[in-house]
Amino acid sequence: MEMNDNKRRQSLIVYAIIGFALAVAIRTMLYPNIMSAQIKDVSYSTFLSMVDDGKVGQVELTTGENQIKFTTGKGSETKVYKTTQFPNDATLVERLEKKGVDFSAKIPDTSGELWLYLLINLMPLAIFIGGGYLLNRRLQKQMGEDNPSMSFGGGFGLGGGLGRSGAKEVKGEETGVTFRDVAGQDEAKESLVEIVGFLKDPDRYAEIGAKLPHGALLVGPPGTGKTLLAKAVAGEAGVPFFSISGSEFVEMFVGRGAAKVRDLFKQANEKAPCIVFIDEIDAVGKKRDMGLSTNDEREQTLNQLLSEMDGFDNHKGIVVLAATNRPDSLDQALLRPGRFDRRIPVELPDLAGREAILKLHANDVRMEGAIDFGAVARQTPGASGADLANMINEAALRAVRMGRTRVTQTDILESVDVVIAGEKKKSTVLSQHEREVVSYHETGHAIVAAVQDGKSPVSKITIVPRTSGTLGFTMQTESEERYLTTREEYKQEIAVLCGGRAAEELIFGQMTSGAANDIERATKIARAMVTQLGMSDRFGMMSLGETQNRYLGGGSVLSCSEGTAQQVDAEVQALVEEGRQTALRTLRENRFKLHEIAHYLQKKETITGEEFMHMLTSDDGFAPQLPEVEQGR
Ligand code: ADP
Ligand code: MG
Ligand code: ZN
Repeated sequence: MEMNDNKRRQSLIVYAIIGFALAVAIRTMLYPNIMSAQIKDVSYSTFLSMVDDGKVGQVELTTGENQIKFTTGKGSETKVYKTTQFPNDATLVERLEKKGVDFSAKIPDTSGELWLYLLINLMPLAIFIGGGYLLNRRLQKQMGEDNPSMSFGGGFGLGGGLGRSGAKEVKGEETGVTFRDVAGQDEAKESLVEIVGFLKDPDRYAEIGAKLPHGALLVGPPGTGKTLLAKAVAGEAGVPFFSISGSEFVEMFVGRGAAKVRDLFKQANEKAPCIVFIDEIDAVGKKRDMGLSTNDEREQTLNQLLSEMDGFDNHKGIVVLAATNRPDSLDQALLRPGRFDRRIPVELPDLAGREAILKLHANDVRMEGAIDFGAVARQTPGASGADLANMINEAALRAVRMGRTRVTQTDILESVDVVIAGEKKKSTVLSQHEREVVSYHETGHAIVAAVQDGKSPVSKITIVPRTSGTLGFTMQTESEERYLTTREEYKQEIAVLCGGRAAEELIFGQMTSGAANDIERATKIARAMVTQLGMSDRFGMMSLGETQNRYLGGGSVLSCSEGTAQQVDAEVQALVEEGRQTALRTLRENRFKLHEIAHYLQKKETITGEEFMHMLTSDDGFAPQLPEVEQGR
């Protein structure tokens, strides 16, 4: 009796060991990174900056011990770190939420080690492995179905990666985002209101027999709030929000992408009404005929997506939203009626929009007195919503560094520079001569800008080196938003860009590498004038190029014969040269002002627009010379 029991126990143990070894071997084969994953210990501040940089994927806090484990990277790139939470950091949750990090807390677990997790997770199964039956089933389970007991390490994103779609389900109410959290995108919001109505009450639409679009495509440059808008739609309608990023599909094993799409829509179908959000859809939805190298995986995924979108019953209230900043590369099949037939532009915010976004984000930080957000907005043409949010945050960080409890206007203005040009770089020590050259260069830009008719005034000149590599910059303020630019204005812009080099040539008789960026920008403007804007005498209204990647700042590709291309180059060169001559002439005529201001700048490092204008216009015998108005060639 006792013998028997002992034997049974022994054989049970043998079974357990064999089973466990097998299970570990399988695990290792499937997820090699788990076994090699070493938990790296990092400091809390490193953790915070990794969060802010958007590197962190998942965070798990062990309550009581204040241990934080977190992951970076995806798929096989996943790395696991740990750190100890700094006491009483109440802002962490907000910070994590802001970056969309998946975070959770758990009760202390006596086994801290990774392999113990494995042991505990697998032991019960391992014991019962008999006749290969269970083993077989488990493999199937891992490959296909979702099985919570398989999920590894308390949601660390390492397990389950092969199985489930990975679309994170967040209850709509919990996205916590509403239209009020999105500023300056009124047109986009208006287009989305109807979708919200539909999600709230799909039956009302079904009764009449109205069909709502299956999908809408949010199109615009990075950081303009596309993801935010999609979340807001779910939040407004109070429906679940399923989101997945296009790039996740692509990095998967063959055949998994299509399964993931199927799974995603299956889940959505169960939870309808709901939002399915596909971020970066261009990663899956690229035109299929492009290039020779076909990506079968991507194509299968795309086909699955197309058939799911055709197949679902939209009376139930599923709306697929997708976002992209490369709409022109999307496969036509995606844009057909019944799929993403609505296109919602989400453009860079205009002046009023920028001000609204700044104010919105400023609500989250403590501000000192009245802050002139309009002034900040005027200094930031071309900034995206994400840039502006970042500026407010940088300002708050600066205030803390300065030991203050409130953010001031100076903090914000300083952070504008940080976001535009990078942090001040203390380690860069310029020689006396270099500082002189940079001063003249920047003053050159500023004088040409100010003297030219109709040019927006200079708001700031600085020669403090920045981490981005900039040695100095001249900031121009747009007094009002411009939607149309005349040929004269483009020419003036080119002249202003030439002003830096022109000053160097005039004063030092030399050229430096400092003008590289100016040259690039001036040439880009000139090329656009000739090939796209019909502003050259030689070609008139002829289109000579096609824009590429409009939202990513891509240039254009010439679409003309080789001979014409040569003429285009000649024309572009002439335009830039004309700008250079204008700049040289302007500076020659204001040579004394150039000396005076450049010397002052060299001493003070940063001067404001008012100081500059005051020096330029002050009548100390050298009033600025306005060049005679130039006629277009
Ligand atoms: P996109 O998806 O277009 O690249 P996101 O929606 O991810 O941009 O925006 C990133 C962040 O920038 C948001 O979380 C938000 O803090 C800020 N942001 C961007 N646009 C806006 C906006 N219009 N209003 C308020 N905040 C914005
Ligand atoms: Mg996005
Ligand atoms: Zn320059």
